[in-house]
Amino acid sequence: MECDVAVLGGGPGGYTAAIRAAQLGANTVCIDKEPELGGTCLRVGCIPTKAWVQTAFAIKEADETFGKLGVKVGTPDLDFATANQWKDGVVKQMTGGVASLFKANGVDWVKGTGRFKDANTIAVEGGEDVTFKQAVIATGSYPLRPPIEGLDSPRCVDSTGLLAQSEVPRRLVVLGGGIIGCEFASILARFGSEVTIIEMLPKLIPMEDDDAAAELAKQFKRRNIALHLEKQCTKVEDRGESLTVHFGDGETVEADLMLVAVGRGPLVENLGLEEIGVEFDRRKGIAADEHRRTTVEHIYAVGDCAGYWQLAHTAFREAEVAAENAMGHEAVVDNRGVPRPIYTDPEIAAVGLTEQEAREQYGDDVEVGVFPWVANARAVMQNETVGWVKSIHESRYGELLGVVMVGPHVTDLIEAGVVALDAESTVETVADGMTAHPTLSEGIKEAGLVALGRAIHLPNRKRAKATA
Ligand SMILES: Cc1cc2nc3c(=O)[nH]c(=O)nc-3n(C[C@H](O)[C@H](O)[C@H](O)COP(=O)(O)OP(=O)(O)OC[C@H]3O[C@@H](n4cnc5c(N)ncnc54)[C@H](O)[C@@H]3O)c2cc1C
Repeated sequence: MECDVAVLGGGPGGYTAAIRAAQLGANTVCIDKEPELGGTCLRVGCIPTKAWVQTAFAIKEADETFGKLGVKVGTPDLDFATANQWKDGVVKQMTGGVASLFKANGVDWVKGTGRFKDANTIAVEGGEDVTFKQAVIATGSYPLRPPIEGLDSPRCVDSTGLLAQSEVPRRLVVLGGGIIGCEFASILARFGSEVTIIEMLPKLIPMEDDDAAAELAKQFKRRNIALHLEKQCTKVEDRGESLTVHFGDGETVEADLMLVAVGRGPLVENLGLEEIGVEFDRRKGIAADEHRRTTVEHIYAVGDCAGYWQLAHTAFREAEVAAENAMGHEAVVDNRGVPRPIYTDPEIAAVGLTEQEAREQYGDDVEVGVFPWVANARAVMQNETVGWVKSIHESRYGELLGVVMVGPHVTDLIEAGVVALDAESTVETVADGMTAHPTLSEGIKEAGLVALGRAIHLPNRKRAKATA
């Protein structure tokens, strides 16, 4: 089988590259081994997880808000089988959508495991070889497992294993307080599990803004999620009906299930990359430049297999860029405005620099403004006043450096910050613009006003510290 562009992997990186290349006139083949297209994100990542987040949010609303708003629904009761049907239905609709898009764009999906045979051929297990002029590698990532005694118990699952549960575990231990661990901790606590997080670093979501991480830890504690920071898991004992998890200095916790969420590694092995000269590192993934070109001129790499970010939207953008370059255009990836959404309760979303990064890079020339949701009318009427918006800028020219938010719907709101950073806006552009009233989006303008010492809706014109 011959084509102009062959794409290895049909996740966000792969299917986007395939569609974009086809749009630009390429005869395109996408090779993916799973029964549905969409990769980790659509099948076992972003989409099913956020379908559960939606169920968790509905429970919260019914539990904490409906009554206050005058809507009587009684005590909420989780029907987990129906929640899973909903999740599976959403996944089916989305993965089916990618298959339809392939048909509409004339992309051929070859089902099977691919491996480079030479620099212009991918051999597909059990199928025909695919010969190409240009290729995009988008094989994604896999969940890491630390070498801890007892972690091979069937009660120790990764995120895919947790999403496949048909019963809510009574007691869940989450190993790893990163994004995936915290999202599942937040969901399962709302589903009724007793949740314990064990994290070896001193904060949750280690790469995120300190105040955001501290606010999340505070709210998790309020929700009775047990946090053990700066503690290592040392051993897991499977007692048949349950687990005993050993951690820290001789501490233990009993659990029915353990989620191992200590990070994901790039899927780069057994692809024949060494033989064709595509350089990679087993931990960091495939080396690719801003054009997403690898060390072999006509082969590109995108997404988790070649990325620092491990996000679906970075994979989408990298894929567009790779496909455009493969088709003779000139495109580069600009990582200035990468949104960092975290679907915990409360949600976190950020773009640009954290406050700590800004202070490291700009020293004393940094101004920060924090606007709490409790002062926003829309948040108050939604009964969602936890958290704040933080605006960070450098004080010489007023350039906006970052926006960090914790609270209601911030994963949707962060796009305003993305556009502002991409446009190299000043804080005045944000603070002097108009935002519809009453909306949550006013929080972003208000944080800018606070940073400029011009707050209207706060008793103090300037509040420099987050409420965490
Ligand atoms: C639980 C969870 C929740 C997440 N939530 C979010 C979120 O909310 N937002 C977000 O931005 N990101 C989220 N992510 C991360 C996101 O899923 C990934 O960043 C994204 O899927 C990466 O896309 P990709 O195309 O690089 O790889 P993948 O989506 O992993 O796709 C790779 C595809 O390649 C196929 N493949 C691999 N090797 C071969 C081979 N040799 N032959 C044929 N096919 C092959 C795989 O089967 C797979 O289908 C989440 C991840 C997890 C695990």
